[in-house]
Amino acid sequence: MNHRNRSVCFLLLFLALGAHLLERSLGGLGLAWAGLVLQFLIGPQLQYLWARRSHQPIQAEFINMLIDSVGFGLWTAMLGFPLALTLLLPIGASFNLTAFRGVRGLGEAVLATGAGVLLGLLLQDPTWMPQASALATGLSVLVLHVFVALVALSAHDRSVRLQLARQQLRTSEQALQQQLEQNQRLHAQLEDQAHRDPLTGLFNRRYLVETMDRALAQSVQQGQPLSLLLLDLDHFKQVNDTWGHQTGDEVLRAVAARLVAQVRTGDTVCRYGGEEFLVLLPGMPHAQAEERARHCCAELGQQPIPAGDLQLAMTWSIGVASHPLHGDSAQAIIAAADRALYAAKHQGRNRVAMMPAHA
Ligand code: GH3
Ligand code: MG
Ligand code: MG
Repeated sequence: MNHRNRSVCFLLLFLALGAHLLERSLGGLGLAWAGLVLQFLIGPQLQYLWARRSHQPIQAEFINMLIDSVGFGLWTAMLGFPLALTLLLPIGASFNLTAFRGVRGLGEAVLATGAGVLLGLLLQDPTWMPQASALATGLSVLVLHVFVALVALSAHDRSVRLQLARQQLRTSEQALQQQLEQNQRLHAQLEDQAHRDPLTGLFNRRYLVETMDRALAQSVQQGQPLSLLLLDLDHFKQVNDTWGHQTGDEVLRAVAARLVAQVRTGDTVCRYGGEEFLVLLPGMPHAQAEERARHCCAELGQQPIPAGDLQLAMTWSIGVASHPLHGDSAQAIIAAADRALYAAKHQGRNRVAMMPAHA
């Protein structure tokens, strides 16, 4: 029970009980009046201060409610069970503790109120005076109304706050979700950037190393071949030397695009070094890879590369190697393709060279 509700209800209870004391000519009982002032006027303020300063305010409030309940029982018995108050006080005790602690609280309220009644019966000879005057009854009914209205108001406040908190939670959940998605996008972007060559947009060597082991393991598992073309532009340095580095870059971009246009979905094209490219062909047997390499050579030889106003005739030297012919590891197959490429250069360039099996 909050401080406002307790203070207001207890003030009204003080008036109702005080009216009853006066009408029953019990006004002379100094002790009863002292008890009334203590429990209903001073009590709520002391209880509030104690609960606020306590390290365990919930526990303190629970004890406050137990004290209220014992007090209610005590008053009910000592006043001779006046009907209106006998209804009102235990209802108040049960309501507060039940709202606070559920069924357990209801049991505790019944016990505490009962203990108060017993104490009252022990402290004085049991009396039975159920009648109360119109004023005391009216005040009791008023207390009941005010009490129910205040509790309803508190419940309303709480439900509004709960709704607001839920709304805030939903908003922050949405913001968090958006942030998460943005992070995932950024992460994917960064990962993609880390795997791409900025000049040509092709995958880079790092990506190839990561991918090739996976592709090979899959080929070994499925008993499928896997081939690899290592392509190197012939006399590329001359392009740089003659037309400038920028033209050289344009040529690299154009040959990269041409290569990508010639592969199947699922093949991987990467820029392996300066003017060296690598095409990974999962599932492709050696003979078919050789045919593909010849096609690449012919395609580049037949169509010059446009670079600015120039049309530059370029050629490839290509080394071909395959799994299982040249081994089961990425390292072995790349080394075989490299040796084949070297042979192609040695034999005069603009050609495809193969390595004999396990050479
Ligand atoms: P070969 O036929 O023996 O392969 O001769 P080559 O001139 O193609 O080979 P070499 O290894 O002598 O030269 C490769 C050149 O590629 C040297 C280097 O400056 C150039 N290069 C490497 N990366 C880039 C790049 O990103 N842009 C440009 N424009 N040139 C590059
Ligand atoms: Mg070269
Ligand atoms: Mg080279």
